[in-house]
Amino acid sequence: MRRWNGWGDEKNNLDFDLSESSRAFIEQRIGKSRPLPDATLEEALGKVPASRSPEHRLISTDAEVRLRHSRGQSIPDWLAMRSGDFGIFPDGVAFPETSEDVREILKFAQDNNLVVIPYGGGTSVCGHITPEAGDRPVITVAMSRMDKLMALDKESQIATFGAGTLGPDLEAQLAAEGYTLGHFPQSWELSTVGGWVASRSSGQQSLRYGRIEKMFAGGRIETLQGTLDIPTFPASSAGPDIREMFMGSEGRMGIITEVKVRVTPVAEKESFYVAFFPSWEEGMRATREIIQSGMQLSMMRLSNAVETSTHLKLAGHEKGVNLLERYLKMRGAGESKTMFTFGTTGSKGQCKAVLKLTRKLIAKHRGVFTGSYMGKHWEHSRFRSPYLRHGLWDIGVVVDTMETALDWSSVKAAVVDMESDIGAALNADGENVHVFTHLSHFYGQGCSVYSTYLFRAGSSYEETMQRWEKLKAAGAEAIVRHGGTISHQHGVGKDHAPYLPAEKGKLGIKAIEELCHMFDPDGRMNPGKLVP
Ligand SMILES: Cc1cc2nc3c(=O)[nH]c(=O)nc-3n(C[C@H](O)[C@H](O)[C@H](O)COP(=O)(O)OP(=O)(O)OC[C@H]3O[C@@H](n4cnc5c(N)ncnc54)[C@H](O)[C@@H]3O)c2cc1C
Repeated sequence: MRRWNGWGDEKNNLDFDLSESSRAFIEQRIGKSRPLPDATLEEALGKVPASRSPEHRLISTDAEVRLRHSRGQSIPDWLAMRSGDFGIFPDGVAFPETSEDVREILKFAQDNNLVVIPYGGGTSVCGHITPEAGDRPVITVAMSRMDKLMALDKESQIATFGAGTLGPDLEAQLAAEGYTLGHFPQSWELSTVGGWVASRSSGQQSLRYGRIEKMFAGGRIETLQGTLDIPTFPASSAGPDIREMFMGSEGRMGIITEVKVRVTPVAEKESFYVAFFPSWEEGMRATREIIQSGMQLSMMRLSNAVETSTHLKLAGHEKGVNLLERYLKMRGAGESKTMFTFGTTGSKGQCKAVLKLTRKLIAKHRGVFTGSYMGKHWEHSRFRSPYLRHGLWDIGVVVDTMETALDWSSVKAAVVDMESDIGAALNADGENVHVFTHLSHFYGQGCSVYSTYLFRAGSSYEETMQRWEKLKAAGAEAIVRHGGTISHQHGVGKDHAPYLPAEKGKLGIKAIEELCHMFDPDGRMNPGKLVP
């Protein structure tokens, strides 16, 4: 069963146990920390109020079911779960199994004046699924029972899935037929194909497979105004694209029930590699040249010097890392080295050719290629980082991220300001913040910038929340100042909504509001999110 107050399954043992040296490294960066006390499930359940929902065959009003569907994975969500102070709970959780069930629930919501929150995997990190206080009872619609491959058109390479299909289940069902979608967000284990569409997500191998925008071919959406079936075309010039309206709709316009995605046969070969550049500047120049030369890599990630040293410190293989660092230093990649992880996917011949060309460009920018050993480690642990949150929380350290995408001409300065503003956000409280950044999801025009920050929990949950609010505001304001999008992949939800007008403009926001209003004139679909 999913953890009720953290990441992953209750039974797995993937949590990071921080080594002594990792702890010492973090302490040296942000000071000695003290953990906050966790509430027990029983204590949290004691705070679930009586349900206001009328009865329905598809709706559970069980307290634990409601609690387990009331929050996502943002820091405010995490603090709510850990303290047991959830605030508002949904009054019921619906479990539809078909599009007809969803239609029935929406009709029931209309007839009984209910608020409806679509729920995929609950991995939102921006407060997408948090119920708001109000007079209307709230029903969360959990898509978990719509989790099957419904059709596979091999000739057109289009697969139809129930919107609640989780990443691993989706890939397993496709793999049985020799296909893959290739969408691997870090939250892959627990997020759903419907959630990916509704929040416009991006997977680690977006270089090869594209973002969800490229994969989403059509499907079925149940709205309060009726059913919308979006047909699949390879391309179309027939006016504005209805698919686009629903990508990033964040549950405001309807419930996606069936998703048609473009799939490809499983590639013959896939490998990941690591190289190091002597400096951030050289790394940035190299990655820009690689992407702008049209090289067909399947993923790229460039960690700045602080992220590189943090990863190496937390890797827990001190002897091996020391040896590696000595070797890199000899080759000119010392203290300010930056780690470049990249992947090749395709036929054996394609992979070989691309690797050869990439190595040439790496060498041109004084990079040191270290082979596939560390790449294999990345591949093996690519979905494990979220579990680190547990190890850090247990020692009183909170970790969060802030991400954007910008044109190349703005990237360098934006990284400097995001890091320095987040790093200084708690100065007045006398607190240090450990910030590091990587570039990923590369495009000819620019790339995404992803900053991670570690800070000490306060002496209370309230103080911890205040610290996070300052950090979030500092990061978001720096992004807006540099003309970045408020999110490249996490979406808007509640937490990013104040910053959305900066990029959409007044008229743009009005257009989105009108669209939501057209589908949902009573404002019952996930109110308070995207355009509150
Ligand atoms: C540790 C971690 C790592 C992450 N890494 C990435 C990453 O690499 N890339 C990335 O893009 N994101 C990432 N995310 C963010 C998150 O996983 C994505 O936004 C994901 O797409 C959400 O999918 P979900 O199924 O969990 O949706 P939920 O969190 O359940 O919902 C997200 C939004 O979509 C709406 N929604 C969900 N399902 C439907 C539906 N069927 N119909 C209509 N609306 C619906 C909800 O109402 C909500 O507004 C990460 C999150 C975590 C916690």
